[in-house]
Amino acid sequence: MRLIDRWHRQLNYLRVSITDRCNLRCIYCQTGPVFHKQNHDDILRYEEILRIITAGIALGITKVRITGGEPLIRRNVFSFLKDVSHLPGLEDVSFTTNGLLLERHVQDIVAAKIQRINVSLDTLKADKFIAISGADRWQQVWNGLIAAHTAGIFPIKLNVVAMKGLNDDEWLAFADLTRHYPFWVRFIELMPVGHSDLYAQRWVSSDTIKKTIESKFGKLIPLEKHVHDGPAERFKLNDSKGEIGFIHAISHHFCQTCNRLRLTANGCLRACLLSDQQIDLKTLIRQGCSDKDIQQQLIAAVSLKPISHQNLDSPIACSEQMVRIGG
Ligand code: SAM
Repeated sequence: MRLIDRWHRQLNYLRVSITDRCNLRCIYCQTGPVFHKQNHDDILRYEEILRIITAGIALGITKVRITGGEPLIRRNVFSFLKDVSHLPGLEDVSFTTNGLLLERHVQDIVAAKIQRINVSLDTLKADKFIAISGADRWQQVWNGLIAAHTAGIFPIKLNVVAMKGLNDDEWLAFADLTRHYPFWVRFIELMPVGHSDLYAQRWVSSDTIKKTIESKFGKLIPLEKHVHDGPAERFKLNDSKGEIGFIHAISHHFCQTCNRLRLTANGCLRACLLSDQQIDLKTLIRQGCSDKDIQQQLIAAVSLKPISHQNLDSPIACSEQMVRIGG
């Protein structure tokens, strides 16, 4: 049995949010009013998450990304990461972080056998970092990046959410960064998540970014796709150490190849990031369901997967905040 949807897409990638809490408050992620954090009891326990991942592996899940909220603030996260990375059948385990705790925990990450990470960094300027994230912590994130790089973690992807009028003067600086460091910069198109008019005001296409970079550095060199690429279209500058990717989730959506399923911190399965449809798995698990029942729910969630994301003309396609879903 495999996780294959109505349109014959095979899902092998599970994104797992382990907390809805975060130590930053980025404007595109925690949109709208301050929300009430979920109670400790409403969040899946690590054993429950490991059970769900194991059920997923039996159905063909081979890739897991841990996210949040900020995953590194959850207690005992490093022993959990170690448990996940040792699950037989997984080929790729990684996490996404805002980088604040990277420097302090870089050896814990190495010990947990996590080889690849994504770090969110939308600006190379400390003052703009405050405007985007609400905290004066740019240097701390940068120190974390350098510590991870020095410890041999590779690849380190830099997630840059592109926002008109906010970081559109930094495309060239991010491109230039790849000439000096082996970072994989990923420009991500802003997505209409949560209640906010940010999308209407700030959205910018990845084509615009690519053109800006090419106008200064010349034609980008396309890179061959490899199995752990995800949806990014990848390029490099001549003689660069790193690479540049574009995730055009909106302008040229890649729904036809989407292989993802998401598990929220409170135990709901979501088959499409931009849809509010979900299945509550936590309640079933706490009622004592079997591993077969969990597999049935994973299959049911996959059957909800729409052919592509809906309502993109609406300023809000998904009413839930990204911090609660996990990006
Ligand atoms: N706290 C971690 C971090 O900052 O990377 C992990 C959680 S965060 C929700 C995961 C990813 O979602 C980040 O790379 C972030 O940039 C992305 N993200 C959040 N809201 C987004 C939005 N509205 N559009 C595009 N990407 C978004």
